[in-house]
Amino acid sequence: MEGLKVIEKRDKKIVEIADTKVGGGNFLFCAGPCAVESKEIMEEIVSYVKISKVNLLRGGAFKPRTSPYSFQGLGEEGLKILKETSRKHNIPFITEITDTKYVELVFKYADGFQIGSRNMSSFELLKEVGKTGKPVLLKRGMSATVEEFLNAAEYILSEGNENIILCERGIRSFDPAFRNILDLNAVAFLKKKTFLPVVVDPSHGTGRRDLVEKLAVAAMAVGADGIIVETHPYPEKALSDGFQSLDRDEFLSLAKSVEKFALFLGYEF
Ligand code: PEP
Ligand code: MN
Repeated sequence: MEGLKVIEKRDKKIVEIADTKVGGGNFLFCAGPCAVESKEIMEEIVSYVKISKVNLLRGGAFKPRTSPYSFQGLGEEGLKILKETSRKHNIPFITEITDTKYVELVFKYADGFQIGSRNMSSFELLKEVGKTGKPVLLKRGMSATVEEFLNAAEYILSEGNENIILCERGIRSFDPAFRNILDLNAVAFLKKKTFLPVVVDPSHGTGRRDLVEKLAVAAMAVGADGIIVETHPYPEKALSDGFQSLDRDEFLSLAKSVEKFALFLGYEF
């Protein structure tokens, strides 16, 4: 693989997002809505995710939607809601950053950046978040090779920021039966190849809420350091990705499986 310098070299990295440790035997259980919609919905989500061992919240305030006419996110108002909910319940949060012009703003509010599939190759953005030193959950581009994914992480590393979590979120395939194909080969491979924690997003990886729990457990079996899932109390009314968002009961069922399996695998959790 070409161009890799830092990523192959070192002892396993433990990334810290506020008090949440990821990697080196520390398991990440991240959950939240695809998009932040309101303070009330966010509160409702936390009221049930708190029953489980979720140690990181997620939620988009800037949404990179396929159509410009779809809900684009609440922007700074969404960041405020995330911060307020996160501080009230003492669970840190990450949120997606879509452009270099938002680096200062997102830095100010969030405990960590999320770089989405559509921006994995936005090299200026990778460099800018690299400069901040703040943790970054970097998602694999939907058509990116593993080598391209690793080089994207190198962009962040090249600015001196080693606080990176790699996230497999599914790749495009010929088969319209699923939104994406979750590439568990890549997860097992990345765990061997890099010193960074590797987590899995079975929500985007399948695109179907009835498959999320199964693939979450499968991801753990191949060595993932954590999972990130979408949940919404009323998936059919969600403004983004409702079809793959777990409702309360589905989420609690997944949490039970994840926690049981994490214990079995000996994770700190
Ligand atoms: C998301 O996490 O809501 C998201 C947009 O994911 P991805 O970048 O993997 O499509
Ligand atoms: Mn989503």
